[in-house]
Amino acid sequence: MMRQYQSIKEQYPDAFLFFRLGDFYEMFGEDAIVASRELEITLTARDGGMEERIPMCGVPYHAAEGYISRLVSKGFKVAICEQVEEAGKGKGIVKREVVRLVTPGTITDATTLEDKTNNFLVALARNQGDWGLSAIDVLTGDFYVTYWPEKESIGLQGELARLSPKEIVITTQLAEQEPTLTKEWTAQGFIITLAKESFSLEQARKLLKKHFGVSSLEAYGCAQWPAGLLSAAVALHYVQETQKTTLQHISALQSYSTEQFMRLDTATRRNLELTQTMRDGVKKGSLLGVIDKTVTAMGGRLLKRWLEQPLIKLSEIKERQKYIKALVDDGLIRESVREALKSVYDLERLCGKISYGSANGRDLIALASSLEALPPVLKQLQEGEAALQELAKLIDPQVEIATEIRQALLDDPPFSIREGALIRTGYHEDVDELHNIAGTGKEWLTHLERRERERTGIKSLKIGYNKVFGYYIEVTRSNLAHVPDDYIRKQTLSNGERYITKELKEYEDKIIGAEDKLIQLEYSLFIDLREAIEKKLPQLQQTAKGVAQLDTLLSLAQIAVEGAYTCPEVNNSDQIEIYGGRHPVVEEHVGPGVFVPNDTLLDQQQRLLLITGPNMAGKSTYMRQVALIVLMAQIGSFVPASACSIGVVDRIFTRVGASDDLATGQSTFMVEMTEVAHILHHATDQSLIILDEVGRGTSTFDGMAIAWSVAEAIQQRQSKALFATHYHELVQLEKTLSGICCYNIAIDEVGDEIVFLHQIRPGGVDKSYGIQVARLAGLPDEVINRAREILATLEQEGIDKEETLPVVREEKSKEKAQVTEQEQLALFYGTLPERKVVPSVDSTVNKMVTE
Ligand code: ADP
Repeated sequence: MMRQYQSIKEQYPDAFLFFRLGDFYEMFGEDAIVASRELEITLTARDGGMEERIPMCGVPYHAAEGYISRLVSKGFKVAICEQVEEAGKGKGIVKREVVRLVTPGTITDATTLEDKTNNFLVALARNQGDWGLSAIDVLTGDFYVTYWPEKESIGLQGELARLSPKEIVITTQLAEQEPTLTKEWTAQGFIITLAKESFSLEQARKLLKKHFGVSSLEAYGCAQWPAGLLSAAVALHYVQETQKTTLQHISALQSYSTEQFMRLDTATRRNLELTQTMRDGVKKGSLLGVIDKTVTAMGGRLLKRWLEQPLIKLSEIKERQKYIKALVDDGLIRESVREALKSVYDLERLCGKISYGSANGRDLIALASSLEALPPVLKQLQEGEAALQELAKLIDPQVEIATEIRQALLDDPPFSIREGALIRTGYHEDVDELHNIAGTGKEWLTHLERRERERTGIKSLKIGYNKVFGYYIEVTRSNLAHVPDDYIRKQTLSNGERYITKELKEYEDKIIGAEDKLIQLEYSLFIDLREAIEKKLPQLQQTAKGVAQLDTLLSLAQIAVEGAYTCPEVNNSDQIEIYGGRHPVVEEHVGPGVFVPNDTLLDQQQRLLLITGPNMAGKSTYMRQVALIVLMAQIGSFVPASACSIGVVDRIFTRVGASDDLATGQSTFMVEMTEVAHILHHATDQSLIILDEVGRGTSTFDGMAIAWSVAEAIQQRQSKALFATHYHELVQLEKTLSGICCYNIAIDEVGDEIVFLHQIRPGGVDKSYGIQVARLAGLPDEVINRAREILATLEQEGIDKEETLPVVREEKSKEKAQVTEQEQLALFYGTLPERKVVPSVDSTVNKMVTE
């Protein structure tokens, strides 16, 4: 047996081998040592025919799922090796095979996965410089493919950040070609698996065509993407190898291009806290945390995808807006449909379970009740306006499947499908008959008990059952004298004896036979039912998609109503105009009525806003709010503003906050400069850039010089930008470069203290208020006083940094500067005809009084 173990283990060197021995999965050697530590189970040893005993540990098979999940969630792989023939049938040792390899990217135990997040396995491949990427969610069956030409491969990192796969599969060849990248991905926390096989393009096509049962891949839109096809083949092959089933639910390959969506790089996704916070990496406190009002898991996953893939095509954005608007307008339908969807289970994952053959009776009942919830939803939508009627068309409720399930299954089946109690009376003649036999058998036993009591005169005589002897007659010690001769003694107890009779045994065979047969029959009827449903998986998945879309649109409508959002006018202009904009997350955090709304205008004249103001004034909040409003508008959502019009942007770039990247060992300044470099290389005149405090990680003059030249470079690229800085000297840029305008976030000085007004207004500031803010933070008085002294001295010495600053490249004409100034004033005081008045903020409204 140990030899058998060894030969199997050799095929799975990087996985724990769960080796089935009777009722246990055993692990040996190094596996046992590590597993006992990771799972906190006892380590023992057994004789392996060698001098030294072999370390060993095991887990009971019925509790294995939990242990497997624990190991896999820690990044390990587990190969499950079963006995594949019955003991004693063949000669010698029972045949064993690995039936499944569970890995972080291919785990199908839904209980360990987050409901509202896809668990993606990603495969990467290269072909003549191009990069291909495929992602499979093995439980929902989602299968995506995309590719980038060599020079665009920068998109790859952003896509990895979006998908955040649990596991990345690459060929050994690719790992050898790209050692630095492979190392980088590992450093970023991705688990890299080397695929055993690599494919030629021909083989890749063949594998995919065979799986989907098609003669051409044209319909999937990726036939001409060699790198994409290679990655898809690697992904699919790996899933086939690990799951060892037919994977019916992976029924289509969806190709997409990152060009279809707004581009967001890794840093921007993180900085804008789209789906998780920077600090804790949790959903609460992120934008998704605020806007996710979905009531189904499918809707939750789709909303996350929408948020991570903002659109750039106007027609697609408007289409979503149309539906959301209709759902906003009809509160009654919105509320009741949301309520009805609450009883819809995770149809996508149920489809996966059906395909893996792991769906039990309860899963099918959950499927039926989910489908049954849909017709009333459709009826509601059909009664609404045209857009709502269109929405109803997204969903085919597949009532026949529900009916089929209800006819076959009892309402409350047990967890196991091998214990009977599954099939409803009237579904199958044989089941009913066996039920009858088993039922009458029980009656017969009661009758026998009564008869024997009368015959023997033993009142306490009773018939019982145990696994060893089957049915028996039990007589207490005091009555033994009355036991008739035809009783055969089987077991002596402390207070009596147990007997059998010929008649009892004959009947027992019949009853137990019937029960066994019943369980067997119920099981096979259940499997037939499940297989019949499996044939309809593509349609069911379509239904699931429809429900997901409806739920996602409902969620966006709900948040629009709850948050008093407005529908943005989205167009292809070169302008972003926001009135009364709010930061959706901070607004929720500070509570109702506290958040101070602000306006924003970015157009040809105001292209780059240089924002100054003390720490804590609200610069970051303001800049992020603009980015988030634009992003939300481009997912089709309503936005937190009183009115706005958004010209679609192709990318959002951000450089905010300072953080060391410990994983790759880069210092704060290095990270910052890498990010700025990335922005300057990729920003276009349609991009939106958010820069917070560039150049802080180095000496003042260096920092200022860098900030200055970066501002100039952005101005040249004509991107729309918001640039917060501490370097007041940069304010001069407004006078000399077109499109640069200065703003500051207002504060009030009350004696020695400052009051934050959180309101943006034109012009720069020439004071930092650093000492006041430091005081607010609780720096001891003596430090504050000393700082004041030092500051006074420095100011007296008159360090004039301006003289040391470089000469700017473009001279702005006086006339232009005046126009801009006038325009700004007009915008902010509402005298420009087509622009609205900015709400002025009374400082008494402000809640952040300094004490
Ligand atoms: P800065 O970047 O200028 O240091 P932040 O943007 O981080 O300042 O804002 C500091 C805090 O001020 C925020 O955490 C928030 O609580 C509050 N704040 C910012 N903007 C507003 C606003 N418009 N209305 C109300 N409170 C705000």
